[in-house]
Amino acid sequence: MLVILNKKKFFKLFTVLFLLFSAITCFAKTDLQVFKGDKNDDLNEYTINASFNEKLKKLTCSQNVVYVNNTKNNLREVYFHIYPNAFSKEKYAPFAKNELKDAYPNGFSKGYIKVKSILNNQTKLSYSISGKKEDLLIIKLNNELKPDEKIDIHIEYDVKLPNSIGRFGYGDNTINITNWYPIACVHDERGWNKKGYEKIGDPFYSDVSNFNVIIKIPNKYKIASTGVIKSKKKSNDINIFKVDARHVRDFAFILSDKFSILSTNIKDTNIYSYFFDDKYGKEAFAVAKDSLVVFNDLFGKYPYKTYSVVESDFFIGGMEYPNLVMIDERLYDQDSKFALEYVVAHETAHQWWYSLVGNDEISEPWLDEALTEYSTILYFEQKYGKEVKDRLIKHMKVRTMTKQSKNIFKSTTEFDNSIDYSLCVYSKGALMIDDIRKKVGDNVFFDTLRKYYNENKYKNVTSDQFMNMWEKEGVNTEKIMNGNN
Ligand SMILES: [Zn+2]
Repeated sequence: MLVILNKKKFFKLFTVLFLLFSAITCFAKTDLQVFKGDKNDDLNEYTINASFNEKLKKLTCSQNVVYVNNTKNNLREVYFHIYPNAFSKEKYAPFAKNELKDAYPNGFSKGYIKVKSILNNQTKLSYSISGKKEDLLIIKLNNELKPDEKIDIHIEYDVKLPNSIGRFGYGDNTINITNWYPIACVHDERGWNKKGYEKIGDPFYSDVSNFNVIIKIPNKYKIASTGVIKSKKKSNDINIFKVDARHVRDFAFILSDKFSILSTNIKDTNIYSYFFDDKYGKEAFAVAKDSLVVFNDLFGKYPYKTYSVVESDFFIGGMEYPNLVMIDERLYDQDSKFALEYVVAHETAHQWWYSLVGNDEISEPWLDEALTEYSTILYFEQKYGKEVKDRLIKHMKVRTMTKQSKNIFKSTTEFDNSIDYSLCVYSKGALMIDDIRKKVGDNVFFDTLRKYYNENKYKNVTSDQFMNMWEKEGVNTEKIMNGNN
């Protein structure tokens, strides 16, 4: 995610940088990596049928999950996040107090998930709802599930969307259907990860899975989604989309009756810009293309068939999902040109750090955010030259100088507010990665990042793994972590 705290400051920085921007450098290189086959039967497989009722702003859903026990233990129960319930009461709403007005322009509005039944092969499974925000679903299994065994879990449920312009809900222009279905909690060496939908950072952690989703929507809407639309059928005034998404860690879609769409194919990926206004839709499209090429070249090939940059009713700034990013519609204007470029590049970098190489974004938010923020700097360096990169780094140094808080290695829940969180995790984190680069030199730095990507794509990593990798290259990570290099 990227929070845009002050559009004016961004504009000021832009005017300084604008003078330095030179001609776009050419950075296309061939990359021969190919998409790994998808025969892994150790991935969870979601088949979801979702029908959208426009009037009620409700989805009626039927979901089958082939859940695989990838743990080393026998399982008696399986945990799922049911994030829409974090919107069921005002006190649960995952926004800071001073954000509530922006998040709910028409006052608080309820969103929730109503679980109607859970079955395994026609047999009822008992379940309970838990978590501080009632956003955790615990399903009891009738028989123990041994390691490597699979079970079919069939869930019937309704999802009510709130009138909210955060990640989840609807505004005047778009309907943001994200973190909407029951998604299996990650079970790692610490056990089940049951953390709820908190207000700071991106409170998500998931395993790469396969998705087959059938979406029924009134035909006035256009749809932007994770994955590939395999077919579109018309039935009266309803369109039925069959969407296939392989090897992704989440599935999101955005609807609007106002979307215009631009698309092109670069290196086997269809890139889309969904927008309301031509001029800035083209800008976002250009940055999506350029940043995808830059990161393909620097880190390794983006293996998916689609990537969509979607102008959305989203007051926060930018938000990443697999194959799809949401961008605040207020950035699509002249005053925000630089911010739009920055946010689109940042969210595109998340396709590598978060979507492909995953991590626990609550306990170790710096791991994807710092690297993503630094990748954004790398995009500007590749596109506009070293001088622009140096300016951005200097700007970050100035911004972080005033803050006492040194520790960037905290969980999202340990930060007081979004400003502290952003300065520490994003800016200080990016500066730390710049220090690592200076220590090891460009060749080792980029080779190591490429190796990190290649060895960990479709997996989840930890801070220790990331730091050990640099230790091996002779970096004293302890020193770097303490801010002295
Ligand atoms: Zn981010």
